[in-house]
Amino acid sequence: MTAAVLYIVATPIGNLGDMTYRAVRILGEVDLIAAEDTRHSLKLLNHFGISRPMTSYFDHNQQFKGERILNALRQGKSVALISDAGTPCVSDPGYQLVRDAVAEGIPVIPVPGACAAVAALSASGLPTDNFTFAGFPPSRQGKRRAFLKEMSALPGTLVLYEAPHRLLESLLDIRETLGERQVVVARELTKIYEELVRGSVSKVMEHAAQGKVRGEVVILVAPGKAMPREVEALTDVLRRVMTDDSVSVKDAARKASEITGVSRSEAYDEALRIRNNAD
Ligand code: SAM
Repeated sequence: MTAAVLYIVATPIGNLGDMTYRAVRILGEVDLIAAEDTRHSLKLLNHFGISRPMTSYFDHNQQFKGERILNALRQGKSVALISDAGTPCVSDPGYQLVRDAVAEGIPVIPVPGACAAVAALSASGLPTDNFTFAGFPPSRQGKRRAFLKEMSALPGTLVLYEAPHRLLESLLDIRETLGERQVVVARELTKIYEELVRGSVSKVMEHAAQGKVRGEVVILVAPGKAMPREVEALTDVLRRVMTDDSVSVKDAARKASEITGVSRSEAYDEALRIRNNAD
């Protein structure tokens, strides 16, 4: 490959079967692979029988290596940027390199694939038509609460990355600042111990408190107030559940809230309205 192109290549977030054919082809053809951690990425490249010159590119040497990578591109070489897992630049290094390449008129081509935020969102059952990815919340409680407060009025689902040892404290702060919303914790996606825990913040906290949280986690928080599409889905689910007259309004609301992600109190009000109208 001889054209000056910077490829942003996504790699798996656990399951090597998620590597795309195109990623394997591009990585096998480029003049240089820029990796967040060359030793880590070497295992992946060996697995796919890829052997190309490599250089490291991570946060604290961005300036220096960035310039070296840009020089390779200026000389007409093709470069693929990869991170330790998932999509480079998404809570991973790479943004500055992409920005500089764009500024110099060097073509930047995405080679899409796994991304923990999108994978978690897609299976969460929470609204997907409007969401905010806010990366890692600050690690200190005061800053984290201020950060979450800023997110409180957002109309869509909030998607966060979190370290496993901070999961419980973050969930606590979510409950304190955003209220008892529906949340989903997606842990170890695509790996052996993959788990998606859904429910109110308190219920998910109870689950997380049962043992030491291990592995990687994504936290998803339902919007504070249900959006029109979710209200529609809620009404639909409630009508089906409530065709059986023996189901109480409370039980119907609980079930519909679990299925749709709409808060239990909103589900309760809607269930009450449906039952009253039916009388
Ligand atoms: N660039 C990556 C991506 O596209 O998903 C994210 C890199 S960021 C440094 C790492 C964080 O992503 C983890 O702390 C966790 O929040 C999330 N993550 C990565 N892999 C995951 C997985 N298999 N299951 C759940 N969360 C994961």
